[in-house]
Amino acid sequence: MEKEPLLMLPGPVPMPERVRYAMMRQAINHRGAEFGQVYADCARVLKTCFGTTNELFVISGSGTAAMEAAISNFGRDKEIACLVNGKFGERLFKIAGRYGKATEIGSSWGTPLDLAALEERLKGGAEVVTLVHNETSAGILNPAEAVGKLARKYDALFFMDGITSIGGDTVESDAWGVDVAFVGSQKCLAAPAGLSAISVSNRAWERYTKNPPYYLDLAAYRKSAGSTPMETPYTPAVPLFLALREACMIIDEEGLNNRVLRHKRLSQAVRAAAEAWGLTLFPKVDNLHRYSNTVTAITIPESVKDSDLRGTVKKMGIEMAGGQDHLKGNIFRIGNMGSVGAPEILATLAATEHALRKQGFTVKGNGLQAACEVLG
Ligand SMILES: *Cc1c(COP(=O)(O)O)cnc(C)c1O
Repeated sequence: MEKEPLLMLPGPVPMPERVRYAMMRQAINHRGAEFGQVYADCARVLKTCFGTTNELFVISGSGTAAMEAAISNFGRDKEIACLVNGKFGERLFKIAGRYGKATEIGSSWGTPLDLAALEERLKGGAEVVTLVHNETSAGILNPAEAVGKLARKYDALFFMDGITSIGGDTVESDAWGVDVAFVGSQKCLAAPAGLSAISVSNRAWERYTKNPPYYLDLAAYRKSAGSTPMETPYTPAVPLFLALREACMIIDEEGLNNRVLRHKRLSQAVRAAAEAWGLTLFPKVDNLHRYSNTVTAITIPESVKDSDLRGTVKKMGIEMAGGQDHLKGNIFRIGNMGSVGAPEILATLAATEHALRKQGFTVKGNGLQAACEVLG
């Protein structure tokens, strides 16, 4: 039997065995006490990952469903200023354009956002700000706290995509003034794909739309979550909830703080290896913007072909991600989300070094040694 590949992607990620087994049960009634407890357990742990005491709902749909829920419930017909420096910022801008008056405050992918331009838009009447905290497409960590401060200064709502930061990096939604935050199940939470969670502040509820969507109407989610037992308005993806609960128990057992430190250390090891080899990290960071702690985007050197690089690594059983859209062929990305540790990182780096050499790239220094110094 061929061994299953090791997914070092920015989602989906390998799932602990306990999470996979949780999905194998006989069906349960989603209107019963047992399901209510499963949902309550998920909500309790997820709130700690979000850094919030706001209400939190789990949606049967991937992260994009939560993005659309945020905009369609609390951004409809409003002026929405969208900060964009990668694919997911752009996606939020596109969704915002379907429901409200959206303006893009764009920077090249992987480069710092223009907060001065944001302030101008806020002075000009923007009522909502959207930000991707960890821009997965470019491996850049955006300044959520600074954006939250600006949004508050002008009394705008702040929507934050925390899809690849929540559960893997420091997130303080309440302290940062985030009104609506969301996460996807298949990223740092290490649960199966297909669920998302969204938190909503009282300020957001005060500005809830008069014209909500039907399936993603968060007022309906709020009413059902407030009942005993806790429920969702329509039939949820119960097996995925069972798996998510197990993933949340694992987060609780590890301790969120330890989990965040682990993610930081693993990404630091990847960066150390890349720099030792003489490769360039793709994002341009400054004193506000940082390298992502959950995915590392690396520029592919001139002499190397993306398909050969990732193809060689894949032959050794490890899948890395390429670039999206115009970055395809220019960068490759190594995810370190969820439950992976030093063994997975070191295997990935060893295979990458081999693939680089095979393409004729002369590595400058010992990347594996640099990574080991971070990890050991
Ligand atoms: C993965 C991801 C999403 C959502 O994508 P889905 O395919 O709907 O899960 C949104 N934002 C970011 C930053 C992501 O990494």
